[in-house]
Amino acid sequence: MNELDSLKFSNRFAELPEDLFHKQNWTPFDKPKLIHFNEDLAKQLGFPKNLDPEDLVPYVNGNKSFKNSSPLAMAYAGHQFGSWVPQLGDGRGILLGQLQTKDGLMDLHIKGAGKTPYSRFGDGRAVLRSTIREYLCGEAMHYLNIPSSRSLIMIGSDEPVFRETTEFGAMMVRVAKTHVRFGHFEYFSHNNKSEFIPILLDHVIENYFPILKDSQDSYTDLFEMIVNSTAKLIAKWQAFGFAHGVMNTDNMSILGETFDFGPFGFLDEYDPGFICNHSDHGGRYAFNNQPSIGLWNCHALAAALKDYIEIERTKSIINNYEQVFYDELTALFRKKLGLEKNEADDLKLVEELLSWMQKNKMDYTNTFRSLSKNEDNLFKDKEGETWQQKYLHRLSKEKTSPLKRQEIMEKANPKFILRNYLAQEAIQDAEASDFTKLNNLLEVLKKPFEENSVFEDFAKESPDWGKKLEISCSS
Ligand code: AMP
Ligand code: MG
Repeated sequence: MNELDSLKFSNRFAELPEDLFHKQNWTPFDKPKLIHFNEDLAKQLGFPKNLDPEDLVPYVNGNKSFKNSSPLAMAYAGHQFGSWVPQLGDGRGILLGQLQTKDGLMDLHIKGAGKTPYSRFGDGRAVLRSTIREYLCGEAMHYLNIPSSRSLIMIGSDEPVFRETTEFGAMMVRVAKTHVRFGHFEYFSHNNKSEFIPILLDHVIENYFPILKDSQDSYTDLFEMIVNSTAKLIAKWQAFGFAHGVMNTDNMSILGETFDFGPFGFLDEYDPGFICNHSDHGGRYAFNNQPSIGLWNCHALAAALKDYIEIERTKSIINNYEQVFYDELTALFRKKLGLEKNEADDLKLVEELLSWMQKNKMDYTNTFRSLSKNEDNLFKDKEGETWQQKYLHRLSKEKTSPLKRQEIMEKANPKFILRNYLAQEAIQDAEASDFTKLNNLLEVLKKPFEENSVFEDFAKESPDWGKKLEISCSS
């Protein structure tokens, strides 16, 4: 027996009516090569110990198939940059199925798998550059304790893929709790297929919220969970300085995980208007717009579900989004400032700090890290000193010892984030078949809150060229 046959795949989505997907195999590369294998995640998913990742390559490439997987491309739609697109779907992705883990079901999905009926004008491929970015970012988010899809393995090829320039094709296995997106429900609602909405809602409840099974109003309860997890997720993005880049409704997971991120960026200098996606001319998905776009997306979901959720409760759930968001954000910032008590003006104190950081073009991550380390050369001007005095006054109301406070703060203020330029350097080397930087970066991102004298350089402020990198939607 093949050792990979011990994996207990199912594909619960494949048991739903065929209007929801298209059964689909994928298009292998001629000469696939292993680029990275995520041993930690493989362990979590129950892959055999001591598995030689080379043995996994033919499965990812589509030359061999996992027992009991049931490959399919999902149908969905969505609002892209605010405009309705009636038909999207997995144009280059294949859902293999789920594995049961101690953290619940996990979807395994191949990205870059070749054409499907939903490819529209696309070639069905993903390039090495964007695959590396998604791989790195999933890991970075996970270890920052931000819910996110991750990647199990990435393979490359010699196959040319044409974007702005000719690049190499790659594939990865994306692992996420679910691939059901807000856009799934919109697809059925707007395309006169609303009879499939309760079928999909039941699927979500059965597999992810069994606790709601006996509820009187399980669909509205589910909607509330989706809205609240979205608000909390976006609060985490804001606290860690993460800009997603393409918050279209088809890129919104219904389980509140960071999902389908392409032209994302972590803040370098604190700039609330930061636009990471070069294709986002109007700044719809600018950093400080993310919370309100999250709400906009919840409205779009509510509209799709309108015949199945209770209207008055829906209104109050939507109205409560802001509160859930701010509660989470305040809790996160309290930790960032080392505050255990609740004081009414805490968020104001944060806002004043951020305003000072913006004026002085301070590096977002490193400023908070320096604050955790109590570095006293941080505030060099009048406004900074005034803020520091206020902060010290606020700290005097705390009971925590300075040592304990430093510990709390260091766990809330990462030393290492995925700076765009670091990803870019790893990509450039990988394109020349040198994966050292990629591997080093992945190791460092596993312990973002710890000091690391070997890779101290990865924590430095980005060089000027790195701050100006233009990342587009092309992937
Ligand atoms: P994304 O920007 O990756 O979220 O993709 C938006 C939509 O376009 C999804 O339906 C994708 O499956 C599809 N898509 C993106 N790139 C390609 C491609 N190269 N070939 C086919 N479909 C694609
Ligand atoms: Mg997408």
